[in-house]
Amino acid sequence: MTKIQDTFESLVFNESVMQDKLPKDVFKKLKATILEGKTLDGNVANTVANAMKDWAIEKGVTHYTHWFQPMTGITAEKHDSFIMPDGNKGIILEFSGKELIKGEPDASSFPNGGLRATFEARGYTTWDPTSYAFIKDQTLCIPSIFCSYDGSSLDKKTPLLRSMQAINDQALRILKLFGHDDVTRVTTTVGCEQEYFLIDSKLYEQREDLKLCGRTLYGALPPKGQEMDDHYFGMLDKRVTAFMRDLDDELWKLGILAKTEHKEVAPRQVELAPIFTTSNTATDHNQLTMEFMKKVALKHGFRCLLHEKPFEGINGSGKHNNWSMSTNTGINLLEPGESPAENAQFLLILAALIKGVDEYQDLLRLCVATASNDHRLGANEAPPAILSIHLGDELNGILEAIDKGVPYNQKFNKVMEIGVDILPSFPKDTTDRNRTSPFAFTGNKFEFRMLGSSLSVGCPNFMLNTIVAEELMQFADILENASDFHTALNDLIKDTIRNHKRIIFSGNGYTDEWVKEAEKRGLLNLKTTIDALPYYTSEKNIHLFTKHKILSVNELYSRKEILYENYCKTIRIEAKTMLDMANKLLLPAILEAQNDLTQIIINKKAVSSSFDCHVEIEKLTSMDQLTEKMSEAMKKLEKETEKVLHLTTFEEKGKAYSTTILTCMNELRTIVDELETITPKKYWPMPDYTDILYTE
Ligand code: ADP
Ligand code: MG
Repeated sequence: MTKIQDTFESLVFNESVMQDKLPKDVFKKLKATILEGKTLDGNVANTVANAMKDWAIEKGVTHYTHWFQPMTGITAEKHDSFIMPDGNKGIILEFSGKELIKGEPDASSFPNGGLRATFEARGYTTWDPTSYAFIKDQTLCIPSIFCSYDGSSLDKKTPLLRSMQAINDQALRILKLFGHDDVTRVTTTVGCEQEYFLIDSKLYEQREDLKLCGRTLYGALPPKGQEMDDHYFGMLDKRVTAFMRDLDDELWKLGILAKTEHKEVAPRQVELAPIFTTSNTATDHNQLTMEFMKKVALKHGFRCLLHEKPFEGINGSGKHNNWSMSTNTGINLLEPGESPAENAQFLLILAALIKGVDEYQDLLRLCVATASNDHRLGANEAPPAILSIHLGDELNGILEAIDKGVPYNQKFNKVMEIGVDILPSFPKDTTDRNRTSPFAFTGNKFEFRMLGSSLSVGCPNFMLNTIVAEELMQFADILENASDFHTALNDLIKDTIRNHKRIIFSGNGYTDEWVKEAEKRGLLNLKTTIDALPYYTSEKNIHLFTKHKILSVNELYSRKEILYENYCKTIRIEAKTMLDMANKLLLPAILEAQNDLTQIIINKKAVSSSFDCHVEIEKLTSMDQLTEKMSEAMKKLEKETEKVLHLTTFEEKGKAYSTTILTCMNELRTIVDELETITPKKYWPMPDYTDILYTE
């Protein structure tokens, strides 16, 4: 066996470890809990906890933590050691079933959007046995969900787990109609392609904006950007390769299937894609991947930037959420089949997705809405803010033929009867040419491409699962009650395509023509986070989430509030950082350069009054004029950020940040960037874009 096979998943309390370490009956009961959601009794929990502890101690572990994903979008942990006094002045190492199952972190310091009354600060973390425990930083991590004292969910995982149950229930109904009585479980699968930047840490340390905001708030474009297309898939330099190997090693030990790595479009931008797994595990794994990218980068003298737009004028980073559904019998439900029945089932599920994306454009837009992702969507580097589906020419042709009731092409010279005819075959590699599409069918999965690089995939996936669960439920209701299944199925698919084909678009999503066309089709164009957030609690969406028991009305309002709060805080911190940098670093440096230039003029004139110094004076004048403008822009930004504090509602604050404050910030930046280009480099008090993007 190679070293990799030896170490792969070595830090995970996975099924084979469980089987090895647990008595047979306990293992069986634990598996029933994992597969069927049955509750664990106290004795079983004690045995499992003890086995976990012994396994962890063998690996040098001294502490444990419930590892959870609060609404901050990152993970949280509170470490406790295993030590207990033995009653005889010594200690023993202990970990009980109670401690495994439940933790009680203080909920008051996590975003809760009004769900937590101040007098009741307690929150609960509860072990989620469907995700394996693992070891990180010498600590046993117990994947957990997080809720408030009254049981309201305060995390990203609870609705995801609920949505996986909802889609399972509805997909099983559909599969039964197609005779799949052997299928007992349908799971959603996810593979996230993760983009990020790796920059030299010495340069990072000198940029307050990168340290506090994760992105540069100033910075003139370098003479060379990404226009030569010489970075994409380019050769990986030694330092980056060493980093990636190290990262792979760490991820593999945690059972994360890191697979593909390559350079991306922008200088210093790279991507990592793992092999897909269940949505639940993929969500945990993506959080861990982002965490380890940052940690391993430090070891290699890099900083990993996960921000969606670290550099203006240079492509930002996204995350592609590849999504499908698969059965416990190993069938991918988005794989077009070979037989008429398989094809009919595929077309029905495809129709459910088309209908779902059309009816819930708002939700799919808002689940990727953050202040940072607003810089990318619709900016000709990422999909537009308008939702649409790309299916590829062949599948488009087939759906069009079904819609119109005409033959698909000359080879297939009859009108297709769903459930009777075999789907005209189409080559899969032609389905994914359109990189501008936000939601593309890529042969046997859908690729949702609007996510920002730093986003937890928990939210987009619980939304997607719930939407598809709803559509499958509606379809199952119709088909289960149909007197003639085949006619009902044909009508349902045909009607769905007819009613929702406006969401299908194969052209270039980056163009202005598409924006106009989308408007004609009545599609939503929610340009900013602030445009999208109100939809969270629309009547239609409240109905969806409460019907499937994913989130309660209170939980929905609290999530909306958290997102508003997050948006406002992000932009406020950026505005304040801009002012801080301008006051303490940039303005002093610019004035110093002008002072030295003035001295040059004085010195030169002292040599001979015949020197007119027009070059120096011209330069000094333009610097002086820009500096005056800069000072005005600073004052304006300061005044406006102060004004926002007096607004009362989140809606008002959000609006002010997304319009006035961002505009003031842009004005200040434009002036400073211009000053940067005319100020001698030796005065500029921080590394510029050329330094950061071209230091290997
Ligand atoms: P690309 O999209 O760049 O062509 P691939 O098609 O190979 O690359 O896959 C991209 C991602 O999609 C990978 O993480 C892969 O594991 C994932 N993926 C492949 N099949 C599925 C599936 N059935 N469900 C979810 N993700 C999948
Ligand atoms: Mg892809």
